[in-house]
Amino acid sequence: MPRFRSILDTMPAYKPGKAVTSADGRSYKLSSNESPYDPLPSVVEAIAEGARQVNRYPDPGAVKLTEAIAERFGVPAEHIALGAGSVTVAQQLFEAVGEPGGEVIYAWRSFEAYPLLADLAGVKSVRVPLAGEDHDLDAMAEAINDRTRMILVCNPNNPTSTAIREAELLAFLDRVPDDVLVVLDEAYREYVRDEDVPDGLTLYRDRPNVCVLRTFSKAYGLAGLRVGYLVGHEAVASAVRKTIIPFAVNHLAQIAAIASLRAEDELLERVDTVVKERTRVRESLIAQGWTVPLTEANFVWLRLGDRTLDFAAACAAEGVAVRPFAGEGARVSIGDPEANDVFLAAAAAFKAS
Ligand code: PMP
Repeated sequence: MPRFRSILDTMPAYKPGKAVTSADGRSYKLSSNESPYDPLPSVVEAIAEGARQVNRYPDPGAVKLTEAIAERFGVPAEHIALGAGSVTVAQQLFEAVGEPGGEVIYAWRSFEAYPLLADLAGVKSVRVPLAGEDHDLDAMAEAINDRTRMILVCNPNNPTSTAIREAELLAFLDRVPDDVLVVLDEAYREYVRDEDVPDGLTLYRDRPNVCVLRTFSKAYGLAGLRVGYLVGHEAVASAVRKTIIPFAVNHLAQIAAIASLRAEDELLERVDTVVKERTRVRESLIAQGWTVPLTEANFVWLRLGDRTLDFAAACAAEGVAVRPFAGEGARVSIGDPEANDVFLAAAAAFKAS
């Protein structure tokens, strides 16, 4: 029998959102916070054109994509590090800071991959319970000690959808020692409408220990191609580049991401539509009697406790896949209007049952 690291025996499995189908064949996937739209024709064309070169390895440095991101966001190219989805960039960060005895702090519940990546990297997870649905930044600051290597702040938070405001985040950052890396995971940044929620790309500039994670998977609609990135000072970005698997970001992903930045206006219009739908879904749920936290992301969070799995099953019977966290609640992505209507009807029926 081959021997594996003992941590694999206890590591939590990542449970990806699955599609479900109703008895009459309907299927609405609201379980993975994806874009509900088909890819833009201009992006599909660029991918088709790029397919002609797939006998060659991709550009290992993803130079053109890095330059396109640098130009778009007004950051130096040296401050950018790319990965096959922002989750792999997060993994590189864990690998880069992970030392036996090291600790990583994050809120809980938050993005499910964090504990997995911590275990893999051999660092201890310090999970700080949310205060209601929000980060408890005071408690997170109090959890810092000599062993702390990194702190992840998911803003807006997956799965509870709430966002941290500027004054609170700045006060927190002031309490973090310079040798502790703070990762602002902004996978859902494009959906934020509260102007008081700070943009990590402005915060990191005069803070060498702060970096930002962004992705092309959500607002830019490229979840299937896997491309995400970090923006941070050179020491942080180069630590990620050193630990990354060669050629991690494939050729089609690079091309599609560049094409998406070119078509950004169109993509951000779609984000506006999702945000309008988000308001409609949240207000409808509240009118049905649900408590729904204010959401700055492309999903809503329903705290259901013991009824979570029953709720997910009731939605599944209507063909709607939501993301249940047993005993806690369900996260439901904002889809197209039809999907949202079917979900709202299922939620109303459940409430009345
Ligand atoms: N961070 C957060 C908070 C997320 O919710 C996700 C996706 N569920 C990711 C990172 C990873 O996204 P990707 O790897 O597709 O870029």
